[in-house]
Amino acid sequence: MKPLKLISLIAVLVLFSAALNAQKLTKKEKKILSHVEKNNKAAITFLEEVVNINSGTMNAKGVRIVGDIFDAEFKKIGLQTDWKSMPAEMKRAGHLFAEHTGNKGKRLLLIGHLDTVFEEDSPFQKYENQDTIALGPGAADMKGGNIIILYALKALYETGLLKDTQIIVALHGDEEETGKPLTISRKNIIDAAKRSDIALGFEGSTGFTEATIARRGSSGWELEVTGKRAHSAGIFSENDGAGAIFETSRILHEFYNELSNTKYLTFNPGIIVGGTFAEYKKDEASGTAFGKTNVIPQTVKVAGGLRFISEKQKEDARNTMKTIVEKHLPKTGATIKFWDSYPAMAPTEGNKKVMAVLSGVSQSLGDGKVIAYDPMKRGAADISFVAAYTDGIDGLGTMGEGAHTPEEWIDLRTFEMLTKRAALLIYRLTR
Ligand SMILES: [Zn+2]
Repeated sequence: MKPLKLISLIAVLVLFSAALNAQKLTKKEKKILSHVEKNNKAAITFLEEVVNINSGTMNAKGVRIVGDIFDAEFKKIGLQTDWKSMPAEMKRAGHLFAEHTGNKGKRLLLIGHLDTVFEEDSPFQKYENQDTIALGPGAADMKGGNIIILYALKALYETGLLKDTQIIVALHGDEEETGKPLTISRKNIIDAAKRSDIALGFEGSTGFTEATIARRGSSGWELEVTGKRAHSAGIFSENDGAGAIFETSRILHEFYNELSNTKYLTFNPGIIVGGTFAEYKKDEASGTAFGKTNVIPQTVKVAGGLRFISEKQKEDARNTMKTIVEKHLPKTGATIKFWDSYPAMAPTEGNKKVMAVLSGVSQSLGDGKVIAYDPMKRGAADISFVAAYTDGIDGLGTMGEGAHTPEEWIDLRTFEMLTKRAALLIYRLTR
């Protein structure tokens, strides 16, 4: 056989096996896609409408108005809606939950958020169409993602394929600045997760061929170090010891040596105050210190963050840190406290299975295989709170850039395709 013929035969075989891998679209699936196409213009108009309403996290009224608009739309496609208010002292609008009840296929939890980082005093308030993109506060992060959820479900509703499915939509009013305590602000979504098999997060997409199957969790720590206050002439002596600042430098240096090479783990001392007297105010992220060069320092405070890929990694790191803290240079003492913020979403086998279904959908649509996005490149998100209870993937929302800046924009050309992908994914998971 001539080499050229061999190559073309191989090419045919490769194409053939690719076609086998890519499940062909069924009649019903094609119908779903045609409904997404039919509704796409209305979806973009709806996006403009909701982006033009300010819903900065602290603007509870605006968040509620946007929530009410989504509420009405979910009702129209047969979902039961419920506004979950937060206690007044939390100063948050609350969350919109919408539910379709049934017992067909996997039970899904679809996650979005109503709030944006742009408060009422931000100069960035309006939607602005610029041909293939649109600028707007929250256009990509993530009013666009909420609309992908809505219009994916709408296409299923219009084709009669939403029937008997069990789907909960959770649109938080405080994703950008979570209401505290988290035990209250994240209670509803955790309850919903306990009644669901799979969570799908519609935060921004990093590309058609990528999905987020892991997000690192975030947490904090505070180190308090003490030394003996004495004349500096006596430092290193048996009587006066090393002082709080040397002890702190020992601790931080050992943290660095022991932990800085752990994959997916990062920790950062963000602020340090020390001297004869030192005060650190966590709420204000600031501190003050007083000390003299001829006095051995008696107090140091350090506050830092810690990000991790799994609860085990977090616990292991904390244990290592505690062991280091407990050693102490002469005449010093130290204690460390930890607190939790976002849990980790670990890259579990279950998450990979959901990604495989998405990958199948993507191939059916001619967009190629989907692989896992690097968790180091993504921050924490709401899906992390339910990762302990469900399988899940995130990054199913819009494409765009500049989130959290006044240059935020959404790619309008990919919007329809992303809605199609979401609709088919929901459809296949609920069969
Ligand atoms: Zn977001």
